[in-house]
Amino acid sequence: MGSRQLDIDCGKCGTFIVRYRKEGSGQLIRLYLDKILQPKSLAALKSSGRKSNIPVLICTECDNHIGHPIEHEGKRLAYRMIKGSFKKSSN
Ligand SMILES: [Zn+2]
Repeated sequence: MGSRQLDIDCGKCGTFIVRYRKEGSGQLIRLYLDKILQPKSLAALKSSGRKSNIPVLICTECDNHIGHPIEHEGKRLAYRMIKGSFKKSSN
């Protein structure tokens, strides 16, 4: 399966949160930091090492919580997305 680019926006106010390269189809449950394309500030977090160094993913406009940092399978940094907190669109 190929990959495609998704834009994730705040589900409350519509503010742009991240652009993401998603592999496969299906629901967006985890957002891997090494697949984040924009903004650069978030993409750079992939080299933070541990989830304790990663801030909670929130909307900068309305403070809506979008995702919580996790270490998937003990090592790969990701955000576990909060169901219903965001909207996604292909571009
Ligand atoms: Zn918002």
